[in-house]
Amino acid sequence: MRQKLAAGNWKMNGTAAALAEVDALNSHSSIAAVDVVICPPATLLSRMSERLTHSSIETGGQDCHPAASGAHTGDVSAAMLVDAGAAYVILGHSERREDHGETSALVCAKAGAAMNAGLTAIICVGESETQRDDGTTLTVIEDQLAGSIPDVVTARNLVIAYEPIWAIGTGRVPTLSQIEEVHDFIRTNLITRFGEKTGAATRILYGGSVKPSNAAEIFHVVNVDGALVGGASLKANDFSAIITAL
Ligand code: PGA
Repeated sequence: MRQKLAAGNWKMNGTAAALAEVDALNSHSSIAAVDVVICPPATLLSRMSERLTHSSIETGGQDCHPAASGAHTGDVSAAMLVDAGAAYVILGHSERREDHGETSALVCAKAGAAMNAGLTAIICVGESETQRDDGTTLTVIEDQLAGSIPDVVTARNLVIAYEPIWAIGTGRVPTLSQIEEVHDFIRTNLITRFGEKTGAATRILYGGSVKPSNAAEIFHVVNVDGALVGGASLKANDFSAIITAL
């Protein structure tokens, strides 16, 4: 009942030349069966969206400001992402929580703004290696979910991405049972907070070193509805292999 989703997070990678990868991905038949979104740097968003006008591949931002407009140098609003063709926005990625001191309260405000603008918010949660070792993973996830998700959501405008910080860009991946434990926990949390219908229909992605070689086994885990992919989304061959595994 939940449509699978493959989300590519290009992070701070890519100039105009990288759009050729999108053309290559677009010609791949695997994209038809699932939802695919690429979140390029803001500088590429509108060019990529234009390039994908007649494609089922959608685009997304990697952040937005909670305000609609105003004196916020360097920031981009949710409405601006929509104007640039985006349908999604990644919010609360651990790199933003760490590099920019983003709190869950700020992520929540951004998510509210994104949803009001008509975007689907991909809200990221995940524990550090120390928290994993200390046995506080589920408490950390619970706090991030409670603080980062607005009170009013629909299963269409919310996606959760579980990304253990120690697995991002490291080639290290949790065991399948560790992934299952956290995804089950998130599912139960969503059902408790938003009710059976919305909670059961909201997609939960796994992210952190997803590659063509490990995608299939991760996608078989219960309550894994797709992936948020960093490094392996930059090359059409790798990303299409992951999409095929969905
Ligand atoms: P990775 O990044 O796939 O390169 O580990 C995932 C992410 O940070 O979204």
